Amino acid sequence: MDKGQKFYITTPIYYVNARPHIGHAYTTLVCDAIARRKRLLGYDTFFLTGTDEHGQKIERSATAAGTTPEKFADEVSGEFRSLFERMNISFNDFIRTTEPRHKEGVQELWKRLEAKGFIYKGTYTGQYCVFDELYVDAVGPGAPCPECGRPTETVSEENYYFKLSEFADKLLQYYQKNPSFIRPESRRNEVMAFVKSGLRDLSISRSTFKWGIPVPGDPKHIVYVWLDALSNYCTAVGFGSKNPDEQKRFERYWPADVHMIGKEIIRFHCVYWPAFLMAAEMPLPKAIVAHGWLLFEDNKMSKSRGNIVRAETVIDVLGNDALRYFLLREIVFGQDGSFSFDALVQRYNSDLANDLGNLSSRTLTMINRYFNGSIPYPSPLVAKKESDGVIRDHALNVIAEFNQLFDEYQFSKALETAWTLVGACNKYLVDEEPWLVAEQEGEEKKSRLATILYTACEALRIVTALAHPVLPDATAKIWHQLGLGDITRFDLSDLKWGQLPLGGKLGKVEPVFPRADKSVVERMQQMEQERSPKAPDVQQSSAPATQAGNGTVAGQPVAQVVPQAVTQAAAGPASGAPAPKATPAATDGKITIDDFMKVEMRVGEVKFAEKVKGADKLLRLEVDIGTEVRQVVAGIAISYEPEKLIGRKVVIVANLAPRKLRGLESNGMIVAASFGEDGKPVLASFLEDVPVGSKLK
Ligand SMILES: [Zn+2]
Repeated sequence: MDKGQKFYITTPIYYVNARPHIGHAYTTLVCDAIARRKRLLGYDTFFLTGTDEHGQKIERSATAAGTTPEKFADEVSGEFRSLFERMNISFNDFIRTTEPRHKEGVQELWKRLEAKGFIYKGTYTGQYCVFDELYVDAVGPGAPCPECGRPTETVSEENYYFKLSEFADKLLQYYQKNPSFIRPESRRNEVMAFVKSGLRDLSISRSTFKWGIPVPGDPKHIVYVWLDALSNYCTAVGFGSKNPDEQKRFERYWPADVHMIGKEIIRFHCVYWPAFLMAAEMPLPKAIVAHGWLLFEDNKMSKSRGNIVRAETVIDVLGNDALRYFLLREIVFGQDGSFSFDALVQRYNSDLANDLGNLSSRTLTMINRYFNGSIPYPSPLVAKKESDGVIRDHALNVIAEFNQLFDEYQFSKALETAWTLVGACNKYLVDEEPWLVAEQEGEEKKSRLATILYTACEALRIVTALAHPVLPDATAKIWHQLGLGDITRFDLSDLKWGQLPLGGKLGKVEPVFPRADKSVVERMQQMEQERSPKAPDVQQSSAPATQAGNGTVAGQPVAQVVPQAVTQAAAGPASGAPAPKATPAATDGKITIDDFMKVEMRVGEVKFAEKVKGADKLLRLEVDIGTEVRQVVAGIAISYEPEKLIGRKVVIVANLAPRKLRGLESNGMIVAASFGEDGKPVLASFLEDVPVGSKLK
């Protein structure tokens, strides 16, 4: 490569409507690993992240929280930034869409699109999904949004439109000509199918709320939140600035080499964004790479499931490197992957504490003991064995394979490959038994010992260099222990066998990965449980469930979630009666209509039912409530056979806080009457046919 060649990588900017969780951490640390590797290879790397802060959702959430959108955005953006700083993310810039530099750039882009004739004014009447900030093809007031299932609002407004319809052919041609523009292949196919089905002009302004960037020349309108947000990739590197240095910066870094995104925002990045850029006659990003979702124990993380994991918990207990290694090693990049504390600890202990940790500590300890802490000289002539050459060849293969796999975003395979060298080298030490060789007399034995330890040490150095982007903290420590100084100054493009300086003095040798015992899993689970009820998402109360970003250039999945519910009685101790008891009222046992309206009851249909193991009274149900299928744990087993419930309509309290029962997440409850001595439950039901999802009031 050219030394000093630029490399510009971006994360999505995260929507401040939800607080950061491990999904945001995942996207960001993947980019961080790529950026660190590029820097080590000598690229002039620019790594951008930030927050997306405009839109109706934010305006409404702020009002609901009794604050201003500015303060609201400041607070959540600050949380993202401090999480990334804690994670030691090596971003070069953190853009906020509320910054003046961004506003300037967005308005400049608008003017260009307008000057080139791609913007016109029209009137729109139809359904709008506030959650997705999107006009949708739904009919009738309150019709569910096809994207997220939430009720839509009917709006009629005069808007500016972008002539997206003119770009379908140009986009398709571009995708054909640039097969690596959208990755992975499955996403590329998805985008091409969408564009082939035809593109309609896109409404790119709003006039029904204020929280956004004013349209140049018509400040009653604000710029559509996606046009606003996507532009960050340009404005952050100086687009639209009057400052010549900033203009030069834009010339230097644009177009971006990689936009890393979550798969749920692919259309915005692969269709709208390139069309805007084409219209403005600006270069397109070189690649848009979509990763999958991070699930928790195979379920989508969502607020209502109460299973959102925060990166801080893992970092507090096992450190940054453990989280990074786990997510990059365990998840096949591009596909959905599962996070669990058990798997995390297992992976940490086997790959880091055992494999790499042991290789490092025993090799370096022996060099200290037998060679006074100096890298020994391996005689090229005497005391050689075939096994030494096997390790060297293995290392050379690993360098070549790791580089290729990592640069193809196959992080898991790349690490797996590197760890084969760790494994081979540990076995080499066991086979060669340097501790026994050391007890034997004679120069040749001394030479043999030197060769073994040099070989192990050199393999360790190579793995350490390769793994640095993934394990920045631990590899920096090992590098120091090897006496090699600052690892970030190493030129990775020059990595080869035999660079270890002979006679070099080791640094202070200390264990890098202390073993984690079983209590670690419990500790992390407890930390999550303690913090989650007190850390409500800033989501609007009407939104049933959600993930991280959504609206905008956000990161992680919105899940069409499957929260769980429980009947009140089942959750309570020693009672078989599932009948809900009314919450005590404020005065003389009465509640106001407002109090009642807080309870969201819906008609659901049981799709699946089974007994909960070890609990006589409990059934686990999957209930369709129209917008989603929920898992409910209900104390109705003494009255109902599970098979007989399937297909039955039930009433669900849909907005109960989640709770756990017999290890199952639960949220809400099924409504039933109870009577008799043992509180036999009877499900509430309807005489007439009622559509699934209907609200009770
Ligand atoms: Zn929606």
